[in-house]
Amino acid sequence: MLNNIGIKIITALLLLSPIEIESKKITIAGCGYVGLTVAAVLADGGHQVTCVDVDKNKISRLNNYELPFFEPNLDDALFGAARAGAILFSDSIDECLDADIFYICVGTPTNTQGVCDCTYLHAAFNMIAKRSKCTEPENEFMFFFSKITQTTVDATCRLKNRKIICVKSTLPPCTMSSLQQYLDAQNNNHYGLVYNPEFMREGSALHDIYTNNPIVLGGAHDDDLETVCNLYCHLENPTINIIKTNFETAEMIKYAWNSFSAIRIAYVNELALMCRKINADIATLIEGFAHSEELLPTHVIRPGPGYGGSCLPKDTTSFSNVLKHNGFVKTLVHQAIKSNKHQTKAVIQDILSLLEPSTAPHIISILGLSFKARTDDIRYSPAIAIIQALIERGIIVHAYDPKAMSNMQQLFPEINYFDSPYEASENADCIVALTEWDEIKNIDLEKLSQCCKKKRLIDTRNIYDVKKLNYYGFDFINMGRL
Ligand code: NAD
Repeated sequence: MLNNIGIKIITALLLLSPIEIESKKITIAGCGYVGLTVAAVLADGGHQVTCVDVDKNKISRLNNYELPFFEPNLDDALFGAARAGAILFSDSIDECLDADIFYICVGTPTNTQGVCDCTYLHAAFNMIAKRSKCTEPENEFMFFFSKITQTTVDATCRLKNRKIICVKSTLPPCTMSSLQQYLDAQNNNHYGLVYNPEFMREGSALHDIYTNNPIVLGGAHDDDLETVCNLYCHLENPTINIIKTNFETAEMIKYAWNSFSAIRIAYVNELALMCRKINADIATLIEGFAHSEELLPTHVIRPGPGYGGSCLPKDTTSFSNVLKHNGFVKTLVHQAIKSNKHQTKAVIQDILSLLEPSTAPHIISILGLSFKARTDDIRYSPAIAIIQALIERGIIVHAYDPKAMSNMQQLFPEINYFDSPYEASENADCIVALTEWDEIKNIDLEKLSQCCKKKRLIDTRNIYDVKKLNYYGFDFINMGRL
């Protein structure tokens, strides 16, 4: 009873107290391009920063206000703050262990096998996690709090004195979870872990952070993400995109961001070589690209069962052949064609993976036949390859499409066509949503779940809410949506 009252009082006190953005003590491990730029940004936000590096020579140069590399405007920002006492440089982590937040900005190079070498990351992480201790409850109130909530001192630390280790180094996906597992295995809840990848580019690092870059925060605890997010509240650009997500998504965003840049640069390079062969101008060609970004902006691109239609498949195939004829094999266009075929095959595998062996033929309901919504065009639609593969396996195909059924009927007269998605899904062993028609997107999932034989669904367009699919008991596969 006493505990309950105590909890209520404490909760009320916590709710009443205004949220203050206080100045934090921050230690940054790694005085490279990222570490020093971030130091300048955090000091500008009013925080007390200590930069630590294992390279004593680097620290000695920094203590003499000498930047170990060239980066526009960084020396003024960094050493201005250092002269004002807001940034210190140290070669001893032991002197910097009383921080609230530890940033890890060490290098993560690839080894000779092309695998990311996390040696520096692990060294920095161990230095912090093993040697820095959470302070004991500071006063009677904290003891009282831990007693009435029946939490241990550790749990109290989590609420009051929990430190954060914020990793900025670029990492292969699943690295952060392994660091979390390490802490969990040690029963170490003194630390919150946050992954906050960096998107700055050398040459415009400060400008990028203040104006362009998203703030991506990956982690398991909202309060930890919020703590790090608050460190950037002085970056008052309203267009800065803040994304809070789990470790894996944050890790993927960073790798995908860099790889997307690499793919675009590689593509332009390939095109330049081709332009040299014929009478074409690469600069004008890139100008023409600006319009393609308007037609298909990156932020509206979604995954699907593979592109189709009257243009992309035939023109990429033809262009790939033109490139090959001019001596350019295994180009990105060639790889894109291969990848697209693989995507459709992956959907077929997904369908088969959901079907258990049965003596009676399975029934699959295909929702959507055209290659995209708002057209009856089925040319190169992924539905064709998928239906073909199912028929070859003796599967009975039921199909529904608001506009494309008569076209598909000419190609596959033997399958069954229905006037509604519910009729098509009657007694189905699995439903496959292939096209993002409104009629299919806005389907009544409850009604759908009642008419099929097995509540199995493949959402190849990520059009259904995962919570709803779970609520109605579907066993489902989608395109990488949580
Ligand atoms: P860098 O090589 O310039 O600096 C890394 C620093 O870490 C070095 O000074 C090194 O001595 C120090 N270090 C190594 N082990 C340490 C330890 N245990 N404790 C303290 N310091 C240690 O690297 P960088 O270019 O700043 O990149 C850091 C990370 O950020 C990398 O993962 C990189 O991929 C990523 N990143 C870099 C950029 C960029 O433009 N350079 C942009 C975004 C992300």
